[in-house]
Amino acid sequence: MSQYWSAVVHGLTPYVPGEQPKLANLVKLNTNEHPYGPSPRAIEAIRAEASDALRLYPDPRADLLKAAIAKRFGVASGEVFVGNGSDEVLAHAFMALLKHKRPVRFPDISYSFYPVYCGLYEIAFETVPLDDSLAIRADDYLGGGSGAAGGIIFPNPNAPTGRLLPLADIERIVRGNPQCVVVVDEAYVDFGGDSAVPLVRNHPNLLVVQTLSKSRSLAGLRVGFAIGHPELIEALDRVKDSFNSYPLDRLAIAGAIAAIEDEEYFERTRKAVIGTREQLTSELASLGFEVLPSAANFVFARHAGRDAGELAAELRARSIIVRHFRQPRIEQFLRITIGTDEQCAVLVAALREILR
Ligand SMILES: *Cc1c(COP(=O)(O)O)cnc(C)c1O
Repeated sequence: MSQYWSAVVHGLTPYVPGEQPKLANLVKLNTNEHPYGPSPRAIEAIRAEASDALRLYPDPRADLLKAAIAKRFGVASGEVFVGNGSDEVLAHAFMALLKHKRPVRFPDISYSFYPVYCGLYEIAFETVPLDDSLAIRADDYLGGGSGAAGGIIFPNPNAPTGRLLPLADIERIVRGNPQCVVVVDEAYVDFGGDSAVPLVRNHPNLLVVQTLSKSRSLAGLRVGFAIGHPELIEALDRVKDSFNSYPLDRLAIAGAIAAIEDEEYFERTRKAVIGTREQLTSELASLGFEVLPSAANFVFARHAGRDAGELAAELRARSIIVRHFRQPRIEQFLRITIGTDEQCAVLVAALREILR
């Protein structure tokens, strides 16, 4: 009964998340989840919070979580915003900070949720092509003058390429665009990059967004956050409190605090993923894949002799799921999440058989 729809709904092209199949014994390397579980301290904290306290609303400001994040990153609580996954934080950033007359800019190959938010909030956007090596070129974002952007957003490392932009280039982009907000989406930064958070102090137009879904193994808990100048945070708070005052429930707040505080577990598990990534990269190379340099918990790779869609189908027939984007420029690439050493060995063995 689509005559009942609001006008904007007719034009929406929603984001399609990677599938979450309900089959057992899958080698699931398609949505960049962490292969190891969350910190045991986080699980303990969630269990402790699962009590009569759930009768009560959570803290609408999640002050204790903001304090834990502020302490971990060496910033003030007033520079922290938290939301229901970084997807929600990003959505609020589009609405609160990136909706202007001049278009927001992001790479042509990037997180495919960005154009979706633009569609929902009716925000004009322009895509900026990656270079031939699928890297972001900082100079392309230094237009200035009448060609100046209304906002800039990109992931670092970029998704789905895994390529990292050095901090010096990020600072050039932020410095070169004082007229607008630059959002750096650091969903994967803990797997090989330097965070731009230290730049926030000197740049009131920089917003850094992170998530507990990837490097903290808590995709199922839905917690993301942003760090930026208090006035950027106030804009996010205004949008949040015009939408949902309680985006984080009591379990999420408790689990997130414990996860942020368990630095030892975080370091150990992220290093394990990095080690497996280096191993998998060299094995894929020996099988004839070109693997882009990755600073993330996935690799982006193509095979000289075999179609990526075919490879993905052959892997699926063996219960191994990877991500394949039917999108210009990258249709011959597979995005492979770093699993456990065992899962990656199963993948490599299957590819060896398929490519024989
Ligand atoms: C996974 C991902 C997110 C979203 O993470 P949440 O689970 O919503 O916190 C945001 N940006 C990029 C680039 C991602 O890959």
